[in-house]
Formats: sequence, C-alpha cells, structure tokens
Amino acid sequence: MNHLPSHQTVLIVDDEPINIKALQSVLGDEYNLVFATDGEKALSMAQADPQPDLILMDIVMPGLDGYQVCEHLKANAKTKHIPVVFLTGKWETSEEAKGLELGAVDYIRKPFSPPIIRARIRNHLELKKTRDMLENLSALDGLTNIPNRRRFDQVYAHEWSRAARNNTELSLLFIDIDHFKNYNDLYGHLAGDDCLKTVARALQSALRRTADFLVRFGGEEFVILLPDTNAQGCHHLAEKIRTTIQDLHIEHQASPVARYVTISIGAVTCIDIAHCDRAMLLDHADRLLYQAKHEGRNRVCSAVLPAD
Ligand code: GH3
Ligand code: MG
Ligand code: MG
Repeated sequence: MNHLPSHQTVLIVDDEPINIKALQSVLGDEYNLVFATDGEKALSMAQADPQPDLILMDIVMPGLDGYQVCEHLKANAKTKHIPVVFLTGKWETSEEAKGLELGAVDYIRKPFSPPIIRARIRNHLELKKTRDMLENLSALDGLTNIPNRRRFDQVYAHEWSRAARNNTELSLLFIDIDHFKNYNDLYGHLAGDDCLKTVARALQSALRRTADFLVRFGGEEFVILLPDTNAQGCHHLAEKIRTTIQDLHIEHQASPVARYVTISIGAVTCIDIAHCDRAMLLDHADRLLYQAKHEGRNRVCSAVLPAD
C-alpha cells in the first residue's frame, strides 16, 4: 500500500473488486485508499492504527451487511467518530433514511458520478479535519498548551486498564508550586502566567519516555502519569523534577522556602493494580503532596500502594 503521509485515509468496503477498482481511479490521486471486501475485515481495519478518516461502504455484502457494520462502528467509542458514507445500488428512499438514521453522514446511489462523489468525500473530510482539530484543542490547556484534566481522565482510565491487563506497576506524581499566591501578589498575575508556562515546559522536558503523561490538573497543580514505572524510578524522577524546577532560578522573593520558585510533590506507585483503586491512587498522591507541604515544601513525599 502506498501511504501518502500528508493525505487522509479512506477505507473502501465493497465485496466486488470491480467496484473497488472504479473508486480507486476516482479517489486514488487525492487520498490514501485502503480496502476491505467484507464487513468483518472493515470493522477490524476501522480500529487499527492509524484509523481511516472516512469509510465509504457498500450495503449489500455477504456476511455482515453495510447497515450492520455501521451499527457496530457507531456503538464503539473507538470508531463512532469516523464518518460513514454509503455507496449503494439501493435506490429506495426508505433505505436511504435507514442508512442515515444508523449514523451515516451521506448516502450515494450507484451508478455514481465521479465529480460528485469526489466533491462529497472532500466536504466530509474537511469537516472531519475541523472536528479533529476542535477535539484536540478541547483536550489542551489554553495557557500552557499541555493536556488538561479532561484529557487526563481519558488517558488515566486507559493506562489503568493497560496496567491491569499487563500486570505492570503504575506511578503518579501530584505536583504543586510552592507559595504561588505570594508570587502572584508580588510579581502580578501576568508574571504568574509566564511562570506557569515555564514550569510546564520544564516538566515536559524532564520526561524521557513517550508514555509519561503530563497534565495541568488545575491552577498551579500538575499531574504526571508514569506507566510501567516502579517505586524507585518514580522517586528518582520526582527528585529530578524537583531539582529541575529549583534550578530554573525563577526569582521568588516572597517565598519563605527559597529565593527561587520551588515545587512540592506527592509520589505514589501502585504495585498491584488489582488491589488498588484509580481514584484512591490519585487521592493518595494528593495527600502525600499535602504532607510534603506540611513538612516544609520543596520536597517529595513517596509511598507504595496497596499498603500491607
Ligand atoms: P502552597 O505552597 O501551599 O501551595 O501555597 P500556594 O500559595 O501556592 O497555594 P494556594 O492554593 O493558596 O494558591 C494558589 C495560587 O495559584 C492562587 C492563584 O491565584 C494562583 N493561580 C492559579 N491558577 C493560576 C493561573 O492560571 N495564573 C496565575 N497567574 N495564577 C494562578
Ligand atoms: Mg494548589
Ligand atoms: Mg501552591
């Protein structure tokens, strides 16, 4: 398959190779085309990475028909956002209504006109691109440009089940800037915003593994999720991050802790996911952070769960 990286991918589903060939000559120049000749194959290709940006599908096929495939796609969170266009010899308006009610974005009758099918597919893909962009924006924090809490909830759930499946350890850091209210009071809110951006950048650059996931959890609080990381690795990284921020030497004359901006960290490692709870792990990290504050700030407090 000739993958053009800058192009969007269209999955064509049709049991007749001759129809696939015809569509290839109409759409092949503009898009990456991938093909399935039955419904089951289409469903598995729709879930594969990278996912298709649009599915152009026949209705009458042996095995699962197009309607059934569409139903499955729309019932699955991983595939329901992929626009489905039916391309079919069924002319009845009742069939068209059925297809659209099942969640298809369009219904095109055969024989098709090449310029019309090209234009319609182009329009649907433009909309898809805009939707994807909005989806990405709504997952990012507007100030620091790193993922927000909404995105964290999704990633945390996903990583939790992955760790449970693979029986791996999972660590988490809860980070809070020390005496940040004083910072705002002394240097002003705009300088405070700049400080948050600098801290976010430094936290991000301290992470080495692609699975490590940083979010702005709220105000001046950040969370870092560390999949497949044991207690030693977690504590080591937490200490490294703490010194990284301190060594930025962002002046903070109103801090009773140091002359520079510092952070406190609650660090937890779950060594047995089956006997831990997602919310509890986060809550525990928050409590360790509170302890780090209480013990004088600019420090890491760590624990391993479940406690025996
Ligand atoms: P502690 O060491 O106990 O964490 O003290 P603190 O002053 O950092 O904690 P507190 O929760 O009292 O204050 C948090 C401050 O963070 C108050 C708020 O004005 C500031 N803050 C939260 N979000 C933003 C933001 O987006 N921009 C700026 N500039 N300040 C923010
Ligand atoms: Mg706070
Ligand atoms: Mg604070």
